[in-house]
Amino acid sequence: MSDGRNEKPGTLVRRMPLREGVSRPVVTPIQPSVVYASPSIATLHSQYEGRAHGYTYAREGHPNADLLARKIDMLEEAEGGLILGSGMAAVSATILGLLGAGDHIVGGNQLYGRSLRLMHQDLARFGIATSVADPTDVDAMRAALRPETKMILVEVISNPTLRVADMAGIIALAQEAGVILAVDNTFTTPVAYKPLVEGADITIHSVTKLLAGHSDVTLGYVAARDPAQMKAIYDFAVTVGMTPAPNECWLAERGLYTFPLRFEKAQANAAGLADWLADHPKVARVLYPGRSDHPDHAMAASIVGQAFGNMVSFELKDATEAAADRMVQAAPDLPFAPTLGDVGTTLSHPASSSHRGLTAEGRAALGISDGFFRVSVGIEDLDLLIADFEGGLAAV
Ligand SMILES: *Cc1c(COP(=O)(O)O)cnc(C)c1O
Repeated sequence: MSDGRNEKPGTLVRRMPLREGVSRPVVTPIQPSVVYASPSIATLHSQYEGRAHGYTYAREGHPNADLLARKIDMLEEAEGGLILGSGMAAVSATILGLLGAGDHIVGGNQLYGRSLRLMHQDLARFGIATSVADPTDVDAMRAALRPETKMILVEVISNPTLRVADMAGIIALAQEAGVILAVDNTFTTPVAYKPLVEGADITIHSVTKLLAGHSDVTLGYVAARDPAQMKAIYDFAVTVGMTPAPNECWLAERGLYTFPLRFEKAQANAAGLADWLADHPKVARVLYPGRSDHPDHAMAASIVGQAFGNMVSFELKDATEAAADRMVQAAPDLPFAPTLGDVGTTLSHPASSSHRGLTAEGRAALGISDGFFRVSVGIEDLDLLIADFEGGLAAV
């Protein structure tokens, strides 16, 4: 190869491999290449026919996404899971990759807001009928089934009231009815619950939340037990372009390494904060599945063991927006942000964010007043966190 000094400037675009030696990098390299060059047409044939492994075009797959998928597969005890550009991409690819016009889907009535929106606003345009039912009540789920029901989609722990689905009942129901059971495992995480191991067909994550854990990437994951279903989801996702970016996959991989440690600490904090809030004179009620006063405590213990999660909700005795606003403003170190799973604790107010689209009556039916907060507990020191809440509540 020429040393380049005597070449024309245009020669610069002739790409050269990175210099390698006898040592290797310890950290996963980021591979931003969108295209991959094959050495021959015969090799390309063998790639497309699955006889040789080789990437072709990043929308169809790339090394950073694959590596991240294999790591989450390990946690979920899944095989062949797929990384997508967001959690909603994972939800959408699962439904739209597997269902078609004339099919019916039953969703949990407290699914993530955008999942509910997809069900209520979008699926009908594609001829997919939808119903929602209460996943804590397996008889209500059964009553929602129709002959053309093809899928049930539930979350194990709902947002923001932290109700716990009757997973054993729903798994048995799906099996008996021959319906695909998809579980959005974002809140629970595979530390607390492994849907495929328990008998569900599909597990879904917003990797954006606890798995990546630092609020700096938007990604999703889906794995199906049946390879044919996985391929249908993959083909749909690739066709409509739900591609994850290599940089984001790399960041999520880095975050994932500390996920089990973060989750352990955040859960311990959540339990401590929930108990502290429950004793506070300005707090009307606390919702945490790990507390014996939670309506689904026994169900939670049977499903997630001791892994009750990092989410705590509570309601002020003064259940007005003005009181809630004073709390927000008096606790500036608790970012008022409608997300979850960050290393730092964040505070959300469902009535003005995730559930603002509902009527006041609709919110009341779910138990979400203007004084209702949802806390995504992080990994700070618990006494620091309690001091922040002390300051916030003092202003109420
Ligand atoms: C955030 C979230 C989603 C959507 O994930 P994005 O990465 O934001 O698209 C889906 N389900 C649940 C339970 C979530 O919390």
